[in-house]
Amino acid sequence: MEQQVVAHRREHSGFDLRGAMSKQEVSVIGLGPMGRAMASVFLGKGYQVTVWNRTTGKADELVAAGADRADTVHDALTASELVILSLTDHHAMYAVLGSATEALSGRVLVNLSSDTPDSARSAARWASGHGARYLTGGVQASPPGIGQPGSSTFYSGPKHVFDAHREALEMLTSTDYRGEDPGLAALYYQVSMDLFWTTMLGWLHALALADAHGVSAEEILPSAVSVLSGMPDFLAFYTPRIDAGEYPGDIERLAMGVASIDHVLQTAREAGIDTSLPSAVLEIFRRGTAVGHADGSATSLIEVLKQPAG
Ligand code: NDP
Repeated sequence: MEQQVVAHRREHSGFDLRGAMSKQEVSVIGLGPMGRAMASVFLGKGYQVTVWNRTTGKADELVAAGADRADTVHDALTASELVILSLTDHHAMYAVLGSATEALSGRVLVNLSSDTPDSARSAARWASGHGARYLTGGVQASPPGIGQPGSSTFYSGPKHVFDAHREALEMLTSTDYRGEDPGLAALYYQVSMDLFWTTMLGWLHALALADAHGVSAEEILPSAVSVLSGMPDFLAFYTPRIDAGEYPGDIERLAMGVASIDHVLQTAREAGIDTSLPSAVLEIFRRGTAVGHADGSATSLIEVLKQPAG
């Protein structure tokens, strides 16, 4: 019973049994740019921060700022109940934690490393098999955004575990809890990344096209911003139609889109730049017309994209 009281107090109040204010403890494993930013924010908020990284030198600045350096993964795990994992992917997580599974019992692992939803579900099963509680997270901020207003992280996993550690997690970013399924936060994150990387590549291709004509990124900035700032209205208009499976060609037709992206491809070819991106887009548009969507909206391409190519 006494142990339960201690555990409850430590989890909810930051006070230990003696009633004295204790520092909240957190371990951060993985000190790439993201893990270093997180450890630094926890330090700034007065947490007792223990850090571990494969390349030990990446901990030096944090240790100079007051963090405890764990010599081993085992030490990092046992130093704090709450353990933040900020690693490249889940392979890295198994590589790191695999050497110290005996120390996982009783820990709360918050895995903020990117990977797939299925991999997140397997990782949650693996962690709970070793007696740990496990939350998946998908951070929607770059390292300078950690600890700043306006940044957010998707979380999923057991709600009571999320609720017990929400306050600590909100030191990093605001939280967006998506549900109990540990795969959900990974899914929401990968959906965001799908949108982010394809948008970024489209922007870079457009800039390469402009550059071939001696036009700088700076000169393109206003029109690039104009196109992208129209997207929220575009998305809001088409979202209910997409959910309803309706793609009327009342505003734009896929056939027009085929001609348009073909013009982009020809312009890129004439400029002598890489054409693989507009070629891939044109190929998808043509598949849409081949299955009968030419007179519908280009948003009908979602039906093409729901199937594997070929
Ligand atoms: P990095 O890939 O730069 O660093 C990740 C960490 O993983 C490093 O500490 C690295 O150790 C460690 N690592 C990788 N493989 C292994 C391994 N096999 N064994 C032990 N350690 C390993 O990533 P970031 O810090 O930039 O990001 C961390 C996570 O956050 C990623 O999953 C990323 O997708 C996500 N994220 C990152 C954002 C960003 O802008 N940086 C934005 C949003 C999410 P070592 O130092 O020894 O190489």
